[in-house]
Amino acid sequence: MRIATFQLKGRRLVGLVSTDGQSITPFDLPPEQMQRGAQAIIEAGNPKKIPLQGASVAIASVKLEAPLPVPRRNVFCVGRNYHAHAKELQASVFKNNTANPESWPIVFTKVPESVVGPHDDVVLPVGVSEQIDYESELTIVIGKGGRNITRANAMQHVFGYTIINDVTARDVQMRHQQWDLGKSFDTFCPMGPWIVTADELDGNNTRVRGWVNGELRQDAQTTDLIFDLPTLIETCSRGITLYPGDLIATGSPAGVGMGMNPPQYLKAGDVVRVEVDGLGVIENRFV
Ligand code: MG
Repeated sequence: MRIATFQLKGRRLVGLVSTDGQSITPFDLPPEQMQRGAQAIIEAGNPKKIPLQGASVAIASVKLEAPLPVPRRNVFCVGRNYHAHAKELQASVFKNNTANPESWPIVFTKVPESVVGPHDDVVLPVGVSEQIDYESELTIVIGKGGRNITRANAMQHVFGYTIINDVTARDVQMRHQQWDLGKSFDTFCPMGPWIVTADELDGNNTRVRGWVNGELRQDAQTTDLIFDLPTLIETCSRGITLYPGDLIATGSPAGVGMGMNPPQYLKAGDVVRVEVDGLGVIENRFV
């Protein structure tokens, strides 16, 4: 199932996307639940049990929003999680880092209010950062919560997947050592286009790609992750209870702007497109 949050005639609705991707039918939920996007559907456990209401509408006639327009708390994000990306970062973010990059994952967060929709503009923070970069990421949506989830049980806790562009201000990221500031500017978390449920996508083996102005920059398979999805869920839940609707962005493939020679950062008018096979596409203009 593909579950999308969208605006229709000034109202926020949550609906089921048709198999052909052309139309969407709202779930039968009270308005206050609709305001939370897909959160109520995730908390209910089995979306197949939630009735639909009213007529389906053409996808082209609605404005898609992030499936979780304001996540219930910060988005967990994993740094340096593809082998090739780790290599390209050695000259910059990690040039003074002597820790073994493959013993524990790097985990940081983005604030919930940084989230924008799959086709919304991303606002360049003029005067604050000159080094804005993109990161194309498959993102886990937690279904059943839990603490100290084991690798063996981890996939039972996955409700589904969505896409995040983990937009990053490189200069701010490096200046503060902790990454949260450089990752959390307003509009720095484009998300969508919807959630695909775990029964329809193998997140452990799918392709993640990113383009800038039509030029393919990132192209990787999630089988190349340093820390796989079960390990990430196990790690993030060590002593911390995960809740339904929590998000874990799994890390960026190689091919970010900072890794180019010379680095190529985003500027006004650039369009970044992120696609995950079996999931869909988000495309955002930088302004
Ligand atoms: Mg990232």
